Amino acid sequence: MLWWEEGLRFSCIGCGRCCRGEPGAIFYTPEEEAALAAQLGLSLQEFRDRYTTSRWEAPSLKEKRGGDCIFHDEKTNLCLVYEVRPMQCRLFPFWPSLLESPETWERAALSCPGMNDGDWHSPEEIADLLADCPFPDLL
Ligand code: SF4
Repeated sequence: MLWWEEGLRFSCIGCGRCCRGEPGAIFYTPEEEAALAAQLGLSLQEFRDRYTTSRWEAPSLKEKRGGDCIFHDEKTNLCLVYEVRPMQCRLFPFWPSLLESPETWERAALSCPGMNDGDWHSPEEIADLLADCPFPDLL
C-alpha cells in the first residue's frame, strides 16, 4: 500500500527556496539540454562550458557561489529559463526520493512551504508524475 494513496497537497508559492541554497544537482536529458542551449542562443558546447558541471557522474546545471542554481535570478526570485526548465524542476516535489515515505516527504516540506498545502493531487496524478521522472535512480 502506498502511503500517499489518498493524494497529497502541493501548490508552489514561488518562494524560490528549492532553487537556492545548499548544493544539489539539476539533471537534464539531452533534449532538455538542446532546448536550454537554444533558448540562450548558444551552441551545445558553449552551453556546456558556461552552465554545466557534473554530479554523481551525471551532467548537472552549475550553481553559483552559495549553492543557488545558476539560472535563479536573485533580484526577481524567478527562474531565468522557466519555459525550458528541466523535468526535474517541473516534477518537484513529486520525486521518487521524496515520495519514498511520509518521513522523506515531511523532511522536504520543512523547506518547501508549498507542500502539504494548496491543490490536492490524486494518487493517479502522482503516479503519472513519478512515471515521468527521467532520473528515477537519482532523484
Ligand atoms: S520551495 Fe516549494 S513553494 Fe518554494 S518555489 Fe520551491 S516548490 Fe515552490
